[in-house]
Amino acid sequence: MFFGWYWTLLFMCKTVRLLVAGFGLLLLAGACKKEKPKDEKPLRQVSVPAFNADSAFAFVKKQVDFGPRVPNTKAHEQAANYFITQLQKAGATIIEQDFESVSFDNNKLKLKNIIASFSPDKPKRILLAAHWDTRPFADKDETKKDAPFDGANDGASGVGILLELARVIGTSAAPDAGIDIILFDGEDWGEKNNDPKEYELPKGQDSWWCLGSQYWAKHKHKANYSAHYGILLDMVGAKRAHFYREGLSLEFAPRVVENVWNTAERIGYSDYFVKQNVGEITDDHQFMNRIAKIPTVDIVDYKPGIGFFGDYHHRTKDNIELINKETLKAVGQTLMTVIYYEEAL
Ligand SMILES: [Zn+2]
Repeated sequence: MFFGWYWTLLFMCKTVRLLVAGFGLLLLAGACKKEKPKDEKPLRQVSVPAFNADSAFAFVKKQVDFGPRVPNTKAHEQAANYFITQLQKAGATIIEQDFESVSFDNNKLKLKNIIASFSPDKPKRILLAAHWDTRPFADKDETKKDAPFDGANDGASGVGILLELARVIGTSAAPDAGIDIILFDGEDWGEKNNDPKEYELPKGQDSWWCLGSQYWAKHKHKANYSAHYGILLDMVGAKRAHFYREGLSLEFAPRVVENVWNTAERIGYSDYFVKQNVGEITDDHQFMNRIAKIPTVDIVDYKPGIGFFGDYHHRTKDNIELINKETLKAVGQTLMTVIYYEEAL
């Protein structure tokens, strides 16, 4: 009997201890649950550097001041040297990729892609790109169809934002991923508007547009180069710009689209980054996706209702008057946040 009572007591104590411990754990689990609601995604605290729109605007104006950056002109050469100097000053490693192409109207073009890398030894890369050349004629203009134009938005705005990003990255703590910036040449010497004539493409060439990205996709600056994803900027500085979710970006890089548009919304730029889908656009991201196999989105100003692009597109109206600092800030700060939150999202 005595032993019986003794063991019962011990057993009960053990049971009670277990029950108390179990109840405690339940309480703890309950407490933890309270602190982290299930539906809230934890966001690591990351310090995102500020994108300076005044500085970006100055980078756009500087390009316009060179004159139209049409291939085979002095302004084109001066602009290239200026980009290289600025990117080197920001601490990037530069690769110049020189090549020749023939345009649809039979001009032999001397072209140059400029590749700037930050933390080139980091294996994980994010690729940012824009074209830096200017279309040689304002063929959509009402009166001056053969005149060159400034390309303040079409060309200079994307490069201006990337130069400012480079400047800030160079003076801030490096983001987790290595950043590559590519300035593509020869994007904008495609066939004239409403020209019914068919121009036979050279063998192996897919379009008269996007000559720089086509060349790069087939001759990458580093053997086996790839990037986690890419973001292309084109016409990203006009007042009241709207960036819709473009068809090819949605097809090849849906998660990148989601990340960029959600980030813009989170930091207050949903007026610019509209969560509506539009059709495919011919731009450098076609070749970054299809040939280079890097999932890339295109952030490009789109105006449903008045044709694909704004009423400045390929017209003499595309000058510095069009450029708006708030738009530059919306795109630049969104990009900066995407880059610096890379590991957290
Ligand atoms: Zn263009």
